[in-house]
Amino acid sequence: MYDDNNVFAKILKDAIPCKKVYEDDFALSFYDAFPKAQTHVLVIPKGPYISYCHFLENAQEEDILGFYKALKKTVDILNLKGSGFRLISNSGINGSQEVPHFHVHILGGEKLKPMI
Ligand code: AMP
Repeated sequence: MYDDNNVFAKILKDAIPCKKVYEDDFALSFYDAFPKAQTHVLVIPKGPYISYCHFLENAQEEDILGFYKALKKTVDILNLKGSGFRLISNSGINGSQEVPHFHVHILGGEKLKPMI
């Protein structure tokens, strides 16, 4: 079950602030509060989805496409295409997912260390 009180749900409801990068009808992008790279931004869908699989299995195709277009738009705004970047989506217990609202991390702005 989706937890309406998770921190990203609160950000979507404007109950807590975020440093916004991009927003449209499908997604919100904002800076990670505890950055793990020079540039560390999170992209979240507007709907109540827990993880990558939950999103792909339950969202409308329009919402899935809209989310991934918003992710690309965020990469463009951050000007990361030329220098490169990393996308990560942690999922569930073995993925060490902390916040149970589907999100994709965009990491860049420097040469990243090995993934694990
Ligand atoms: P994950 O481990 O993939 O669930 O990542 C959750 C991310 O959310 C972590 O990188 C946290 O630093 C980040 N985070 C937690 N609370 C906030 C917040 N209020 N604003 C922005 N980022 C947050």
